[in-house]
Amino acid sequence: DETARLIASGQVATSVANCVKELVENSLDADATNIEIKLDKYGLNKIEVRDNGRGIPSSDMCYAAQQHYTSKIKTHDDLLVVATYGFREEALSSMCKVADVAITTRTKDELYSTVYTLDSNGIVKSQKPSHIAQGSTVVVSNLFKNLPVRRQYFSSIKKQKEQVKLTEDFLMSYSIALPSVQFKLFSERMLVWQKPRLLSQRSSFLHVLGAGMQVIERESSSGGIHLKIFFTKNYSCRRSCDRCFVIINKRPVRDKQIDKVLRSHISKQDDKKYAGWPVAALIIEVPSTEIDVNVNANKTEVLLTMKNNVLKMLVEMLQDDFQASKT
Ligand code: ADP
Ligand code: MG
Repeated sequence: DETARLIASGQVATSVANCVKELVENSLDADATNIEIKLDKYGLNKIEVRDNGRGIPSSDMCYAAQQHYTSKIKTHDDLLVVATYGFREEALSSMCKVADVAITTRTKDELYSTVYTLDSNGIVKSQKPSHIAQGSTVVVSNLFKNLPVRRQYFSSIKKQKEQVKLTEDFLMSYSIALPSVQFKLFSERMLVWQKPRLLSQRSSFLHVLGAGMQVIERESSSGGIHLKIFFTKNYSCRRSCDRCFVIINKRPVRDKQIDKVLRSHISKQDDKKYAGWPVAALIIEVPSTEIDVNVNANKTEVLLTMKNNVLKMLVEMLQDDFQASKT
C-alpha cells in the first residue's frame, strides 16, 4: 500500500547526498562527460543535476520514473555483469514519492527538449517544449515534503553542510574512477568543487589532493587482478585527511577489510614526520564476473569473489613499498 511504498522509497532517497548520487549515476550511465550539480538550501529546497548525456527519448519518458523500470538491464545475465551504475530501477520513482521531480531532456534525434513534470507515482503530469541542448536536467524540489521528521532532521545547518561534504566526497571518488568526466558542484550559488576533464586517474587523484602534492604510484598484477595505488606522504589536511578512495572496476566502493589494510600501511608511513595523514587511492580491476554489486541499496559495498587474493596482493605490494621507502 501507499505507506509501505513511502517507507520503501525512503530507503533509496535517504538523504540529499544519496539523491545526488543516484542522479549523478544516472548521468554517468547516460555517458555524460559533463555534469553540473546545483544545490539550493544545501539540496533541501532544490537539487538540480544537469548532464550532456544521451537524454531520455520521449517514448521512454512515460516509463522512466515508474518503479522497476530501467533501460539498463534486459536479461538475467545483465544482472550478473552489471556495467552501469544504476540498475535497481527505483531511484527516480523513489524521489517522485518524497519530492517534486521535473526532467528536461533531449536526445540527439530530437529537435528541441521537453520539460516533464512527474506526479508522486512517477507519471508524467505535464510536458512542454523547452530549449536545452542534448542531455538531461533533473530537478528534485522540496525533498522530504511528506516526511516532516526527516525534513526536520536534515534542516540543521550542520546536517546540511555535512550533506554537501558527503556529496563532494563521492564526486571526488567518481572523478578518480572516471578522469574524463567534468564535474561542477554548486551550493547556494557558490562553486564548492570542480574538476576539469583529465586524462588519467593519476591526474584526477592529484586534482583531488590539491596543488603541490606529490604522488607515489605502485602497480601489481596477477591472476586476472590488477592493482594500482596512488598515495602521498605530505598531505596537510584540509578535510578528513585519512580518506582512502577505493575503486573496483570504475565503481567507488567502501570495504572495511581493504580500508584496514590501507590505513595500517598509511599510519606506518606517517612516522609523525608529517602534519597530516596521507590520502590514498586504490584502483582495482578484476574480471566483471567476479564482483557482485547488487548487495545493498546504495551499492557502495560490493562482494568480490577474489577478495582474499586482492587483500594478499595489496599487503604484498604495500610491504614492498614500505621496505623500499625505508632504504
Ligand atoms: P536505473 O538507473 O536503475 O535504471 P532510475 O530510476 O535511476 O533507474 O532511472 C530510470 C530510467 O530513467 C533509467 O533507466 C534511464 O533510462 C532513465 N534516466 C534517468 N536519468 C537519466 C539521465 N540523466 N539521462 C538519461 N536517462 C536517464
Ligand atoms: Mg539510476
